Amino acid sequence: MAVGRRLRLDEQARFPHVPPVDRGRVRIVVLPVLTPGIVGITLGRWVLVRRGHEHDDALLGHELVHVRQWRELRAPVFLARYLAAYVRGRLRGKSHWDAYAANPFEVEARALSGR
Ligand SMILES: [Zn+2]
Repeated sequence: MAVGRRLRLDEQARFPHVPPVDRGRVRIVVLPVLTPGIVGITLGRWVLVRRGHEHDDALLGHELVHVRQWRELRAPVFLARYLAAYVRGRLRGKSHWDAYAANPFEVEARALSGR
């Protein structure tokens, strides 16, 4: 069973900061609810977005960077490094949201997508 919607070619063209392979691989899954405070999360090629945010190009542009990161590092390495960066931030006394924002994977996604 295929889960999630592909980006049309005209939509893919709106995200030139992401390699074509990832614009073609991504699947957008719209959910009625998501973790409080979160409107989008990427798991591999799947970008889960809270209903009402599926047309938010800034959000999709950000999550597409994570799709590329997942692909480049593969799931175990990506998850281990992402979590390690978060834990390092917390051990240095950062709050949850500060540790999240300072995570190098998030810094890169913001820098490339503008969000
Ligand atoms: Zn992010």
